[in-house]
This record gives sequence, structure tokens and C-alpha cells, in this order.
Amino acid sequence: MEIKKMTTEDYIKREEKYGAHNYHPLPVVLEKGEGVYVWDVEGKKYYDFLSAYSAVNQGHCHPKIINTMIEQAQKLTLTSRAFYNSALGEFEEYITKYFGYDKVLPMNTGAEADETALKLCRKWAYEVKGVPENEAKIIVCDGNFHGRTITIISMSTDPTAYKGFGPYTPGFIKIPYNDLNALEEALQDPNVAGFLVEPIQGEAGVYVPDDGYLKKAYEMCKEKNVLFIADEVQTGIARTGKLLACDYEDVRPDILILGKALSGGAMPISAVLADDEIMLTIKPGEHGSTFGGNPLASKVAIAALEVVKEENLAENAYKLGQIFRDEIKAIKSDMIEEVRGKGLLNAVVIRPKNGKTAWDVCVRMKENGMLAKPTHDHIIRFAPPLVINEEQLREAIDIFKKTMEEFE
Ligand SMILES: *Cc1c(COP(=O)(O)O)cnc(C)c1O
Repeated sequence: MEIKKMTTEDYIKREEKYGAHNYHPLPVVLEKGEGVYVWDVEGKKYYDFLSAYSAVNQGHCHPKIINTMIEQAQKLTLTSRAFYNSALGEFEEYITKYFGYDKVLPMNTGAEADETALKLCRKWAYEVKGVPENEAKIIVCDGNFHGRTITIISMSTDPTAYKGFGPYTPGFIKIPYNDLNALEEALQDPNVAGFLVEPIQGEAGVYVPDDGYLKKAYEMCKEKNVLFIADEVQTGIARTGKLLACDYEDVRPDILILGKALSGGAMPISAVLADDEIMLTIKPGEHGSTFGGNPLASKVAIAALEVVKEENLAENAYKLGQIFRDEIKAIKSDMIEEVRGKGLLNAVVIRPKNGKTAWDVCVRMKENGMLAKPTHDHIIRFAPPLVINEEQLREAIDIFKKTMEEFE
């Protein structure tokens, strides 16, 4: 009897038939990953320049992280927080010392961590700042991306994210990103409790604010007794060439939100860090998660953070990011409008030509052995695992160069 091997087409058709259509993936079906590489079901090898939206900073299937995971999975995976477990405290001590905060609140996805930060900010507003009950406001930025829950899309200015999902959660003031005058004005409202900001807007298309923006925004918040809340779910954990993107301006957020690479891509792990004055406003029973702080996640997160230090991933991202931007800028192609970014979080803005867009560039790049995904039609994000070395980076840049030549 002949066993027919499933083709890429077969896999895609099956997903189309049985899965919700809430994504539009590139037509490639992956089945294996190692370091900076992934392989599809036909055995073709690719450079991964998306890194699962920066969740795989430590590289695919990092042996240290996976071994830790296997070891703990054979011992204890989940207890819920109804009981103590022997791994959570170790993680809490490790991560708070690592980032320099009094306390951590562990969750699973980035969206949950953002929700947690919003709840913390509101609770702090009522109990510490003295905002009248149900009057707290949080300032957010146009173009933000903080996840997909109803409250989070209520902060969004992207119709694709919010349209058709109302009614929306009130209590947010939306201001332009990278605009200190708008922030100054919004801060006049005495019921403002927090300013939630991405140090670089990742999903929006890697928008890097002006130098000094974060520092000044932080100082303005301090002046008004408003919490500076940094969503570093995508920018954090070495991605931008520092441990945190806020480190570039020596800003220590009052509330720090982490996710994605906190597990190195092994499982969903997120965390919110803050000092006691803020964190202890939430009392037992007022917030939680069945899986948040589970022993498996606790051990995996420690391993993932250790890898970042042991392998100097921030330094590597800083150095290779510079090379990436320099090399891309040197390419002569009228389709390249701009390159911007920090560390290994970069974007190339594509000027359409003969009807060919960023999507076509990504499809062609895939055929040439490199995976990236367009965001907002005309922008391609380039964010390889941070374990990439210079030789691999230059090879990937050559693939991009070759791809652009094919469009001439
Ligand atoms: C990805 C992302 C999130 C949401 O994380 P999920 O794990 O997908 O819920 C939140 N904030 C930022 C900045 C992100 O990039």
C-alpha cells in the first residue's frame, strides 16, 4: 500500500477547512526549528526573520530551555495558585533581581500581562493616588498594540483590531505617539493614573520615537504622580540591543510588562513587575490565573533569562543590528523607501512597484530561503533570533539583496 506524503497544499487546505480564518499566513508549513533556522514539511530550510514576533529571541528549541522544560514536565507542571509550589518563589526571586523590582505578578500571554498592568494602575489610582472611584483614566498612544482582549482593543486606533467588537471599555485617552505636547495636555486631567507606552511600536511597523522622548515622558508623568507603564512584551529581553528598550534612556518604568521571549518561545509566559506601593494594592482573590506562575513556566522562564545573559544576546543584537541597517541602506533599489529600528528589531518600508508590494517581496524571500512577514501592507519587519551570528546575518542580507534584484 502506498502512503501518500502530505504536501504543503494539503496542510494549508486542512487549516482553511477546520480552522478559524483569523490569520493570513505566508504559504509555508513549518515542522522543525533550530537556532535561527526553521524547516518546512518539504524539508526546505529557512532563516527565520520573524522569530514568532520576538518570542524566540533565544533561538528555536534552545537546548538549555528545552532540557529544563522536559525535566520539570516530568516532575510537576501545574498546581494552580491554590497551593504553593517549589518553583514559583525561585522564579519570583530571580526575575525581580534580574530587572530590579520589589515584586512580580506572573501571567501567561502578553495581553493578560497588559490587562494586569491596567488593573494595577487603576487600583493604585483609587487606593494610593486618591482618584474618585471609577474615574481613573489611562493615556495610550495612537498606533498602539497591546493584544486582543476587549479592553485592549478599546485602546486601539486600528479599525482592523477594534471594528465590529464594541461596545468598548471606557477610561482611555488616546494621544499621538512621540508627541510630548499631546502628553503634557492629557496629563492636565487630575484623574489620569497612568501612561501606557511601547518604547518602540512593534506591530505598528517598528516606529522608533525621538531620542529623549521616553525620558521626558517619564519625567512629565512623575511630576503629575502618574504611573509610567512600559509594554516591553516585544521590545524587551534583549531584542533592541539592550535588556530593555527603556534602558537606552535610563528610564525605569513604574510598571514593566514582559511576555514573548520570557519563555524563549517554549510556552506562553508573561509577567508584570512593579514595586510594593503598586503591587500590593491587589489583595488575595482580586486577580489571578489558573496557569500563571505554574512550576513548568517558572523553571522555563529562569532558563530563558539565563540564556539571554550567558550568550550576551543584548550585545549581539546591538552590534548586528547596526550592521543590518548599514547594509540594507547600502542596497540600491527604488523599492526600499526606508529602514529603521534598534538592535535586531528593524523594519524596511517597501515602495510598491509594478503592482508588487511587501507581500510579494515576502513570498519571493520565502522562495529564496528567508521568512519575514509584512505588517500594514508596506512594511516588512526583520527580527531574527538574537543567537544569529555575523556570517548568518550577512547571508540573510544577501538573500534580501538578491530578492530585491529580482524585482528590478
Ligand atoms: C505581542 C504583543 C502583545 C500581546 O501578546 P500576546 O501574547 O499575543 O497576548 C502585547 N504587547 C505588545 C507590545 C506585543 O508586541
